[in-house]
Amino acid sequence: MEDYLGRLKKGTLKLYALEQELTPDEAVSVRRTYVGEETGTDLSALGKYSIGIDRVVQRNCENMIGAVQVPVGVAGPIALNGGYATGSFYLPLATTEGALVASVNRGCSAITRAGGADVRILRDGMTRAPVFSTRDVDHTLRTVRWVETHMDDLRAAAEATTRHGRLLGILPVVAGTNVFLRIEYDTKDAMGMNMVTIASERVAELVERETGARLVALSGNVCTDKKPAAINTVLGRGKTVLAGVFLTDEHVQTIFKTDAATLSDVNNRKNLVGSARAGALGYNAHAANIIAAMYIACGQDPAHVVEGSSCITTVDRQEGGVYVAVTLPAVQVGTVGGGTGIDTQAACLRMLGVAGGGDPPGANSKKFAEIIGAGVLAGELSLLGALGAGHLARAHATLGRG
Ligand code: NAP
Repeated sequence: MEDYLGRLKKGTLKLYALEQELTPDEAVSVRRTYVGEETGTDLSALGKYSIGIDRVVQRNCENMIGAVQVPVGVAGPIALNGGYATGSFYLPLATTEGALVASVNRGCSAITRAGGADVRILRDGMTRAPVFSTRDVDHTLRTVRWVETHMDDLRAAAEATTRHGRLLGILPVVAGTNVFLRIEYDTKDAMGMNMVTIASERVAELVERETGARLVALSGNVCTDKKPAAINTVLGRGKTVLAGVFLTDEHVQTIFKTDAATLSDVNNRKNLVGSARAGALGYNAHAANIIAAMYIACGQDPAHVVEGSSCITTVDRQEGGVYVAVTLPAVQVGTVGGGTGIDTQAACLRMLGVAGGGDPPGANSKKFAEIIGAGVLAGELSLLGALGAGHLARAHATLGRG
């Protein structure tokens, strides 16, 4: 240890190079000790973790110094009548927000008592949009026309890079001398951002060669990855998930201590009118809470909470009760790749019965997305119910205060 610390201090050994001489656990320990000494901080708590890190240091995290632990609570069981997720599920929620798990749990209980939520995948497609520079508007048009008339060649180029990925289509978006190609793929059980980036590079090379348009950046932000964007909300990115449940007047009264008219009024004035007045992209109460907690528990890329949270919640008064539904245009999840293989995250995916590749490929990630959609429905129901009954502040005062 002393030898390595001395070389790091002298600058003859780089922090990132420790794994070249040490096992991953040793390298992480030396790096943590060094950073602790440099910053005058006791970092020993970061050194207590149960995950195997041999693959993590190669695939998931450079310059690793340890792990933070996020508590995982469970909500459920929740009954689902999905296109892929059917049966009863316990939802793992990684969070430090007191009252969140209890709230989702109450929503799960309401859904289960009502006979389960209906959940469906409306569409599925992950996108990458390279940006090209053209000489003038005529060149812009010729580039777009070439793309539109050479789909088979472009598909072949993309699919040569992947066993599972399939090119679904290309949407050209132009602005003067800028051509963006929003390329959409079926990525099966992978969330797919690495997969589609690699495939899109081949597409972009072919377009550049054949049209003379200059590739400026493989990602031109029309994708749109990890930024709030109306294009994802309108067209969908990843999986578009719909979940809904009918609650009788009696359910609303006994579980939420409010009534159907109040639930509908709160949703209308808060989630619809309030969000519109605020210029929001998400028309919901707290979809991001459930998305973030499930993404972190299950090894998803937490930055995709940005798009995941653009959910719209609707509450329709119907004969004898209310129909509550959530529509999530951009659920970007996978059950292979990324962080899904890390021990603790893989355990959460196994708990949901979705770890690894599905049969047929794509079935697991769709099932997982449906479960997340139902979790969001549970969270929305519970929070709308608490607001309707005037209980929100009370629950947080009891469960969430330090
Ligand atoms: P990945 O770990 O890079 O690759 C997953 C690979 O698993 C696929 O490419 C596929 O290989 C293989 N695979 C095996 N069984 C499969 C199945 N049943 N369905 C689909 N694929 C299967 O994961 P990724 O999902 O492409 O990318 C996720 C990672 O990208 C995350 O770590 C995320 O943080 C990161 N990310 C990257 C970017 C970027 O711009 N590169 C942007 C945002 C996030 P084949 O392709 O050969 O079929």
